[in-house]
Amino acid sequence: PIILAIESSCDDTGAAVLAGGQLLSNVVATQKVHEQYGGVVPELASRAHQQHMLPVVTAALKQAGLTKADLDAVAVTQGPGLLGSLLVGGMFAKTLALALDKPLLAVNHMRAHILAHFIRDPKPAFPFLCLTVSGGHTQLVVVKSAMEMDVIGQTIDDAAGEAFDKTAKLLGLPYPGGPHLDKLARQGNPERFTFPVGAMPGYDFSFSGLKTAVLYFLKKETAANPDFVPENLADLCASIQHTIVATLLRQLRRAAADTGLTQVALAGGVAANSGLRTALEAEAAAQGWQVFIPEFQFCTDNAAMVAMTAHFQYEAGDFATQLTSPDPRLKLK
Ligand code: ATP
Ligand code: FE
Repeated sequence: PIILAIESSCDDTGAAVLAGGQLLSNVVATQKVHEQYGGVVPELASRAHQQHMLPVVTAALKQAGLTKADLDAVAVTQGPGLLGSLLVGGMFAKTLALALDKPLLAVNHMRAHILAHFIRDPKPAFPFLCLTVSGGHTQLVVVKSAMEMDVIGQTIDDAAGEAFDKTAKLLGLPYPGGPHLDKLARQGNPERFTFPVGAMPGYDFSFSGLKTAVLYFLKKETAANPDFVPENLADLCASIQHTIVATLLRQLRRAAADTGLTQVALAGGVAANSGLRTALEAEAAAQGWQVFIPEFQFCTDNAAMVAMTAHFQYEAGDFATQLTSPDPRLKLK
């Protein structure tokens, strides 16, 4: 099938065209408007989606060398995400499907982050273990098939991406802070400062304690030396990153040991983190794991992963109706 997919769950407007499982185009418009506020402003995100949607879809069709008459189905992210953002993509997709008289596919965004692994080679084989680390989620998932996924662990508070962004903000880095913190960490000493690792039972995660620990630590040190942060920036970044990575690796190691799975996949924007990649490679060598990390453009929000998921759903006959509506808290099952 030739599928047009639309992604608008947060602050990136995406459209992609997939034909018979082959990606023909993948267009993303990233919203710059949120930087000045240090976080995504939902109301502004919805408005920007409305402005970007048609140009992004038009560009995706053009790059694919197709017109809307060539489409066999229209897919859209149903959730989880921001309601106002999801509504824009949802209404656009439903309207287009209705006008073209083509089937509609409603996609779970977290399933799509995982199935991003099937856009390009090398692809993991089912079953595999996936650690999804994004701006809003941290999940350990046993991926039995494209349609069957067991979430065996998740964060009880902040996501890993949030832990990066919030601690980076405390250090005065621009939003989103994750990539900035990563870059600075490369020059720092990860052993210099010690922060608590959220020790959760099972495979769950907790990152809010780290944020609080960094906040109080910086308050104390800055009172004694106002230049503490600038003077120790690289070491602070390296130490924070080391803590987050150690937390992720500990639960991943435990889940891999208990499930016996040796194919380990990363998904979500935090998969770009250099500290996480290095630590995972070392762990893989020690444990005999095979590691899978998608290209960066397929790790952060994009419509190619939504199209790929829709392709599996199309094959399985899992279609949506015009009664479908966005679900900001849609669960992964
Ligand atoms: P969700 O899917 O949970 O709603 P999202 O899709 O908006 O969240 P992503 O786009 O997958 O999130 O990832 C964005 C997050 O990844 C941000 O928190 C960002 O700081 C983080 N990130 C990106 N690159 C890096 C990096 N190199 N190091 C650490 N964090 C990073
Ligand atoms: Fe996402």
